[in-house]
Amino acid sequence: HPDKITDLSYIKDSSLYKNPSIPVDIRVNDLLSRMTLEEKIYQLNQYTLGRNNNVNNIGEAVKNIPAEIGSLIYFETTSDLRNSVQKKAVKESRLGIPILFGYDVIHGFRTIYPISLGQAASWNPELVEDACGVAAQEAFTSGVNWTFSPMVDVARDGRWGRVSEGYGEDPYVNGVFAAASVRGYQGDTLSAKNKVAACLKHYVGYGASEAGRDYVPTEISKQTLWDTYLPPFEVGIKAGAATVMSAFNNISGIPASANYYTLTEILKKRWKHRGFVVSDWDAVKQLITQGLAANEKEAAWYAFSAGLEMDMTDNCYQKHLGKLVKEGKVSMEAIDDAVGRILRLKFELGLFENPYTEILPDDKRFLLPSSLNVAEQLAQESMVLLKNDKGVLPLKKEQKIAFIGPMANNRLHLLGSWSAHGDEKDVISILDGVKKEKGFLAKNILFAEGCGFDGNEQRGFAEAIRVAEQADIIIACLGEKKTWSGENASRSVIALPRIQEELLENLKKTGKPLVVLLSSGRPLDLSRIEPLADAMLEIWQPGITAGIAVAGILSGRYNPSGKLPITFPYTTGQIPIYYNHRKSGRTHQGKYQNITSEPLYSFGHGLSYTKFEYGTLKLSSSKIRRGDTLRAEIEVKNVGNYDGKETLLWFVADPFSSITRPVKELKYFEKKEIPAGESRIFTFDINLERDLGFVNEDGKRLLENGIFYIMVKDQKVKIELID
Ligand code: BGC
Repeated sequence: HPDKITDLSYIKDSSLYKNPSIPVDIRVNDLLSRMTLEEKIYQLNQYTLGRNNNVNNIGEAVKNIPAEIGSLIYFETTSDLRNSVQKKAVKESRLGIPILFGYDVIHGFRTIYPISLGQAASWNPELVEDACGVAAQEAFTSGVNWTFSPMVDVARDGRWGRVSEGYGEDPYVNGVFAAASVRGYQGDTLSAKNKVAACLKHYVGYGASEAGRDYVPTEISKQTLWDTYLPPFEVGIKAGAATVMSAFNNISGIPASANYYTLTEILKKRWKHRGFVVSDWDAVKQLITQGLAANEKEAAWYAFSAGLEMDMTDNCYQKHLGKLVKEGKVSMEAIDDAVGRILRLKFELGLFENPYTEILPDDKRFLLPSSLNVAEQLAQESMVLLKNDKGVLPLKKEQKIAFIGPMANNRLHLLGSWSAHGDEKDVISILDGVKKEKGFLAKNILFAEGCGFDGNEQRGFAEAIRVAEQADIIIACLGEKKTWSGENASRSVIALPRIQEELLENLKKTGKPLVVLLSSGRPLDLSRIEPLADAMLEIWQPGITAGIAVAGILSGRYNPSGKLPITFPYTTGQIPIYYNHRKSGRTHQGKYQNITSEPLYSFGHGLSYTKFEYGTLKLSSSKIRRGDTLRAEIEVKNVGNYDGKETLLWFVADPFSSITRPVKELKYFEKKEIPAGESRIFTFDINLERDLGFVNEDGKRLLENGIFYIMVKDQKVKIELID
């Protein structure tokens, strides 16, 4: 008789959901069928222990976290906090559902590599995939299952600090790197013991923040949403991104975190995303301050009904979803769908089978030689040679070189924002790097700081000039502190502080050749710096191998191959300025009375030590019909003295169409190594729908007959699509 059975554990053991050989969807449904409403709601919440890394009292921290919680935003790497919390979930919750540990692993975990803007400047998605693979391995072996990366917000306003976290101004470029990083983080099997789930953020339109200020509303037409902001997300979803994070911004009246159109209509219905959406930090509650919801309960209703499954940190779901279900305002089907999505990821990550991670000793997980090598390659390929008059670079071995400026001997600021567990002590400064570089003689390396990053203290100028005068060439190492870009780090003027410009003006008076190294998390206004410089190298925030990569480029061991993924304006006042703007009726582009309307450096600009000669751009046919194949081809020859890598950017222009198109749009790029004296053929297989078509304001793809141009550098070839 059933009443006589006291040991019920066999029922639990035979639970379908615990059996890894059963398909995930069945396990999800089985588990859902056993859960109470309260247990389900716990899954929809992410808790935090605070945003600092020090949890002093582990016991206390563990006590405060409910065993049933869905996810935790996690900051520890050394203590056993993570596994202790997990043990509580697995052993003390009724159904033993493991916690999902998320963390901001943005450009490396401990082996910090360049910021995303720099990664894009490398035009090397394979290298970015490798780097994200390194980040995943270091994060996983430290207890992380889920990273809040990549950020694929197209951004065209250098004043916005978060421009550093994305891949620049072009939707296609953002998509390519979105896919590359998703592949790097997730690999083929999410349950592999060196992989983490990715999260595409911030969905959507956050990069359109008005006047470059953070957290402010955005005005985005539906056409622009589809043309510019949605494409990288679609590509990332196709690449298999497990999750998406909803953004802080209000999209023309409907906040992104309560936007049914973007979260449900597009993401779930059209793109068929089976993963889940997590809110940005407290973004559900912020529906109140944004003026949508009158209180937390309404905020929970708005966000959840729009299709946002997990509430990051503000507890609105925790407190109110249960009541909303009981009142009939939220359906059980909707709750099950949301919880099912979160459970599915936990099953796919293998968390039920392997809830604990073995936290490895540091030398087994961090800064492995192969990881450092990836970081160095990505750093050197990300650097952009903006100017090199009279070939002052690379430097000559016998030259006496003066490294002057606040960045020359700095480590911290080369890390950039969101540097996870990156440690200043791991960073090779520019000065360390050049001293170790074989191409230089240590006795020829001179140094003076000259000034700080900001302020108006000129006391160091005299010493800087004295040192500069002993040298054959000056390398001025200037730039931004790491806190000047990233989240909540907008700047109204994107020139460097006057003190750094003044240092340069003084160095110029020595009459010595002047090279400027710039480290920044954004495009810079260089209108006062460029005229003083014989050469300029933008190194972004290159991460811990900074100095080796810089030294390699200065000595000629590396040939610079980076190109700008974002326009450098002539002055801040030109912003927003980007290459793929629409055409105007009267002038090509509105004119200013006082300055040029051209940028200082365009999208795609970047020099090399060698010279690439482009052949004639050829197309397989000039008249095409729907269904035809079309191929463009061009030969590029390295006619200089250095081996080098060249990135070819393929643009398409559609001069007349029922919805007017930008002057040109990037459709494909490829980077190839070309040894000195050799040539390579670059090809672009044009897919008519994808490359010549465009979307309307409802996201419907159109392909219209007429003329198109295929463009490479200064060449363009006309083709016609006919019936
Ligand atoms: C940021 C996100 C980040 C989250 C978690 C937010 O403030 O906007 O990019 O992933 O915090 O730390």
